[in-house]
Amino acid sequence: MAGSPFVGVPLIDIKALDKKIQGEIETAVLRVLNSGQAIMGPDVEAFEKGISRYCGTNYGVSCNSGSDALLLALHAMGIGPGDEVILPPFTFFATAGAVCRTGATPVFADIDPVTFNIDPAQIENKITSRTKAIIPVHLFGQCAEMETIWGIADRHNLLVLEDAAQSLAAEYQGKRSGNLGAMACLSFYPTKNLGAFGEGGMVVTNDEEWAAKLRCLRVHGMEPRYYHKYMGWNARMDAIQAAICMAKLPYLDSWVKKRQEAAARYDFLLSEECLGFFLKKPAVAAKRLHAFNQYVVRVAGDERDALVSHLRSEKIGCEIYYPWPLHLQECLQFLGYGAGDFPATEKACAEVLALPIFPEITMEQQRRVIASCASYFRKSASKAA
Ligand SMILES: *Cc1c(COP(=O)(O)O)cnc(C)c1O
Repeated sequence: MAGSPFVGVPLIDIKALDKKIQGEIETAVLRVLNSGQAIMGPDVEAFEKGISRYCGTNYGVSCNSGSDALLLALHAMGIGPGDEVILPPFTFFATAGAVCRTGATPVFADIDPVTFNIDPAQIENKITSRTKAIIPVHLFGQCAEMETIWGIADRHNLLVLEDAAQSLAAEYQGKRSGNLGAMACLSFYPTKNLGAFGEGGMVVTNDEEWAAKLRCLRVHGMEPRYYHKYMGWNARMDAIQAAICMAKLPYLDSWVKKRQEAAARYDFLLSEECLGFFLKKPAVAAKRLHAFNQYVVRVAGDERDALVSHLRSEKIGCEIYYPWPLHLQECLQFLGYGAGDFPATEKACAEVLALPIFPEITMEQQRRVIASCASYFRKSASKAA
């Protein structure tokens, strides 16, 4: 059936990836089942060491999800009511949700339309005497413009917290994401570059005191047992998830390389089909290694939603990350933002489209994706004529 237009392409194929190392994952899972240690323990510790070594940081504190990693990091930094944290409005909700849940106020700064990451030029005029931190989100697997952000943070004495949920293995100036700020938050949600078979997250940092506070916070702020020093909660990681992630970690670099190759093939196919005008390919900024957790194009004109319907009708997986900006979300209306406040973000929300990408995606599958896009634009052009 290869090459048939009736064969769909999934947005992400988690099973295709796992099959190759199925034996290793099964061995790891069985070892945990037989160990009797369900939560935390040696597998979790080994995974924390593995990830912190991978990121080049001194400490890794695992937790239950990327969302909890953000919340733990903000709490460890002492951020709370009365504080302000600057972040982009074009990100997954968790980045802003975590800030709100500490009692602090998220303050949005618009994005750079080329990289989709926070635009450093928009940050400085958002800083007040209450600002405590900046959260650059390395969206889709590409690092934000850190050099400028470091300068701003230095001048104003602010902490930099990386939201690296989508950027494990990405690099900036030869340094891995995770080691580009005071702390970084990672997610092992199944669609991320290193996915658990369930939930998982981690905070990585070089600061020993913060690492100790993070470890305490994730067990109800308890130290010693049944004496509670901080207002913590249960954010512990399951041993099975850590063992699965650890079994996958040696393959991470080769998987990211395959993601980059797949991205290059999409770039080629878009040119080959002369679709460059309709679908603007993602840009890789200077001094970056883009980990391509997502391959996100911009769809010209008002065609995006009709293209999505067409692709779905042909069983081509695609997704919109993200269709509605954070400053216009219902639960964030109390912040007082309105439509038009962040034009680059609002335009991105109307135009972006993520195409299927995962390490095992084949040229044949990618040809089907691009052929389906091409057939849409042919139809749409003939309708207009
Ligand atoms: C996935 C993601 C998170 C949250 O991670 P979970 O593990 O799903 O809680 C936070 N920020 C960004 C940018 C993400 O993509």
